[in-house]
Amino acid sequence: DAVFDRIRQLDTEIGAYITVAKDAARQQAKQADAHIRAGSAGPLTGIPLGIKDLICTKGIATTCASRMLADFVPPYNATVMEKLFSAGAVMTGKLNMDEFAMGSSTENSAFQITRNPWDRSRTPGGSSGGSAAAVAADMCLGALGSDTGGSIRQPAAHCGVVGLKPTYGRVSRYGLVAFASSLDQIGPLAKDVTDAAILLGAISGHDPKDSTCAKNDVPDYTAGLDAGVKGLTFGIPVEYQNAGGMDPGVKAAVEKAVAQLTDAGAKCVEISLPQTEHAVAAYYLIAPAEASSNLARYDGVKYGYRHKEAGGLKQMYEQTRSRGFGPEVKRRILLGTYALSAGYYDAYYKKASQVRTLIRNDFAAAFETCDVIVSPTAPTPAFGLGEKTDDPLQMYLSDIFTLSANLAGIPGLSLPCGFSESGLPIGLQMMAPHFAEARLLQAAYAFE
Ligand code: GLN
Repeated sequence: DAVFDRIRQLDTEIGAYITVAKDAARQQAKQADAHIRAGSAGPLTGIPLGIKDLICTKGIATTCASRMLADFVPPYNATVMEKLFSAGAVMTGKLNMDEFAMGSSTENSAFQITRNPWDRSRTPGGSSGGSAAAVAADMCLGALGSDTGGSIRQPAAHCGVVGLKPTYGRVSRYGLVAFASSLDQIGPLAKDVTDAAILLGAISGHDPKDSTCAKNDVPDYTAGLDAGVKGLTFGIPVEYQNAGGMDPGVKAAVEKAVAQLTDAGAKCVEISLPQTEHAVAAYYLIAPAEASSNLARYDGVKYGYRHKEAGGLKQMYEQTRSRGFGPEVKRRILLGTYALSAGYYDAYYKKASQVRTLIRNDFAAAFETCDVIVSPTAPTPAFGLGEKTDDPLQMYLSDIFTLSANLAGIPGLSLPCGFSESGLPIGLQMMAPHFAEARLLQAAYAFE
């Protein structure tokens, strides 16, 4: 009731929810109540969670914030939803995002913008901006987002919450509407590190329905949280320190965080990730290439929107896709189709894939000398609504510190590390080797 009151009071202005699922939530809460009375409650029993609107929920619209899927009601649950429901969680509703997760400000939603609860003239970041804003404004107690190039971590930073992108393959993608399949990963946004650890534990693990989902055991992520940072070595990438457009307040907050880690007994060393300058270019070839292929399925026949007045099959495809997709999605389809076309494939997609391997090697080499890499999550605090909408390149640069983790497949976490002069939250990013989420959470917990 408290969460739904909060949504009623705030969400007409914040715009975090696309769908509020009150009736279904009440049913789930009743079942949770029975478990609590029977003494069989777990850590998620009855906990109200919001879900980014690209994770399939049986019987409840899953729109991807696109006109193309405005009326799509999935006949099945994503694996993460099955896992959350069997852990007793309650779903409050579906949260706003950039259309098909393409963006860094949640302004690309076909339905509404989301405002940053800390300053309503600013964006919450994106693409999981609805998830971050809802957690920050107590319109749910935790949320799921998805991260292809930073879409969990960057909005978490801008809204002052904890966000975790797991290792590629840690969490099943079955039922996650695909953007760029080799980069996408579902993860939690939470009020603190302990909540993030509980949520990650609940959604992780092998799933025979996703062939890229790893068989590694799922540890109890809450068990070693208080082990501290003594004995851990933190690496600070030299290439990130003066990256273009870095806000001095962000730089100062991260330097202070590094000093705090040192005070707490950690060792901090400089490391090098020499391919950093090529990460944005490689990502913006690989992600659109995969997107152009994944989005070919929206043809007006199999799912969602169909333009009904077209004269023939070809016009039906054309009209459906012209009207169903927004401008950023079309831009990605054009970029991706071009990069994959005969004659350009070797120059663009293949080259970008080779750069991706070099980026992965950079991280492997860095992790020989440190346990955790620390950096800002984003170069600036939350930016103003409309500030970057006319300049896609500027928007793409918001992910300069986050997208390398997706290219390398490693886990990354963002946690609050102070405020800018104007009182906006700043995020600290920590990255660890593949499947070392427990170490990330332990390091973040010590900082918190
Ligand atoms: N902002 C990046 C993009 O637009 C990343 C999005 C994401 O992680 N889903 O592609």
